[in-house]
Amino acid sequence: MGKPTGFMEFDRLSEAYDPVEQRLKHYKEFVHTLNDEDAKTQGARCMDCGIPFCNNGCPVNNIIPDWNDLVYRGNWKQALEVLHSTNNFPDFTGRICPAPCEAACTLGINAAPVGIKSIEHFIIDKGWEMGWVVPQPPKAKTGKKIAVVGSGPAGLAAAQQLARVGHAVTVFEKSDRIGGLLGYGIPDFKLEKTVIDRRVAQMEAEGVSFKTKVVVGSKDLPAGINNDAVEFVSAEQLKKDFDAVIVAAGSEVPRDLPVPGRELKGTYAALEFLIPQNKEVQAGKTNPINAKGRHVIVIGGGDTGSDCVGTSNRQGAASVTQFELMPMPPEEENKALTWPYWPYKLRTSSSHDEGCSRDFAVATKALIDDGKGNVKALKAVRVEWKDGKMSEVAGSEFELPADLVFLAMGFTNPVGSLLEAFGIEKDNRGNAKATTDGDGCYATNVGKVFAAGDVRRGQSLVVWAIREGRQCAREVDNFLMGSTTLPR
Ligand SMILES: Cc1cc2nc3c(=O)[nH]c(=O)nc-3n(C[C@H](O)[C@H](O)[C@H](O)COP(=O)(O)OP(=O)(O)OC[C@H]3O[C@@H](n4cnc5c(N)ncnc54)[C@H](O)[C@@H]3O)c2cc1C
Ligand code: SF4
Repeated sequence: MGKPTGFMEFDRLSEAYDPVEQRLKHYKEFVHTLNDEDAKTQGARCMDCGIPFCNNGCPVNNIIPDWNDLVYRGNWKQALEVLHSTNNFPDFTGRICPAPCEAACTLGINAAPVGIKSIEHFIIDKGWEMGWVVPQPPKAKTGKKIAVVGSGPAGLAAAQQLARVGHAVTVFEKSDRIGGLLGYGIPDFKLEKTVIDRRVAQMEAEGVSFKTKVVVGSKDLPAGINNDAVEFVSAEQLKKDFDAVIVAAGSEVPRDLPVPGRELKGTYAALEFLIPQNKEVQAGKTNPINAKGRHVIVIGGGDTGSDCVGTSNRQGAASVTQFELMPMPPEEENKALTWPYWPYKLRTSSSHDEGCSRDFAVATKALIDDGKGNVKALKAVRVEWKDGKMSEVAGSEFELPADLVFLAMGFTNPVGSLLEAFGIEKDNRGNAKATTDGDGCYATNVGKVFAAGDVRRGQSLVVWAIREGRQCAREVDNFLMGSTTLPR
């Protein structure tokens, strides 16, 4: 423990943001990493708990007290080594993880928790700045070939772990860039894509081969799912050519809104809006959906909805409203009831702070036609929740002008035809069926085919995808070699 009295002496210091008026003018990241002195002070706040709940609250079990201490002492390089020992990509999580570790921090019971995420962000950015993040090619090759389908955080983490122990790994991706939802989906203002590209370069130097614009298993994708593929590889071919296959294809089917008027022009699934915006920012291809001067309604209150809010405001929307079906959560959690678990409470993102009217317990009844096939308004009703059941409040119907409606109600399951092409059994939610514990975990019912990330667990978080990718890599290595040195 760096400074025994640190938690009493120093307040939590959050990372600074560019002012709203400034950051709305561009799509670049606007969060300022802590400086060296502030990082040390924040590290000093850690109490080095006998039972570090943060470590358990973190899905990759980051060894947080150790790197807090190392940061306090200015031993950045060793802090980076400890950080990398549990997480391949702290540069992703240091930017966009909701930080369940901080919800679990003991200091958070009666004070502001340690700023774990900002310290993580500091360590990894320092690592890149100092040139300490370098390729770690294997000492020897095993001669085994592994295919990874999907280049999101799950696929990338699995690929990196397996390449480092000497396997020849090829990642197949149907998009024209690597990164999964990190590349196409999550806006550049939350995660600039150079952050992914430098990891891709590192992995190439470690021996990973990337094949973009290649769709695996099935070309039959539901409408609205991004597909830049110019090449097709069948599931059979992949199984024939490789010693093991990891399906890390995400959970791409968006939840739809079956109301009258859903088909009207101006109504889109969130990623139909967000992905072209990534392509505009990254490659100059104009996003055909533009919110400038228009009234936008976003349906759904999670990360995806919030990203639609931030993007609409950057495009210059006249107004942005976000509806959520559930009632408004409490602004502060009751720590005595929730700690160390992830609390149910109101979450206000940086995008909300940029301008958004939020309304809760609202159900959409219909989208109204302007007479030319375009949406012009949204008809809604207020709802009440009792014992988990929803009922409409009589006489509470209302209408709001809407030129654009973005549906951000989550994702229901992976593309079924991909799993069917491999013959992978599904669970009752339509995800790839595989366990995460015990013998044969991450293995599907199909010989030598494994599954990890959102495709297995359903829509989730980047940090969970990294965990699953790492753990799955360990199982695959063990399956191919009969033993493994990879950590779980
Ligand atoms: C808009 C948005 C914002 C989000 N914001 C956050 C956030 O702030 N923080 C956070 O922690 N999480 C966030 N998430 C969730 C997070 O992005 C996902 O949980 C995570 O990316 C899942 O990783 P994955 O590797 O399992 O799948 P994905 O990232 O979905 O990657 C799967 C990849 O597989 C490819 N693929 C699919 N089928 C095929 C095929 N047949 N052939 C070849 N390639 C294929 C896809 O094109 C895709 O690139 C967000 C999600 C969305 C949609
Ligand atoms: S729970 Fe908080 S105070 Fe305790 S070791 Fe973890 S970061 Fe430090």
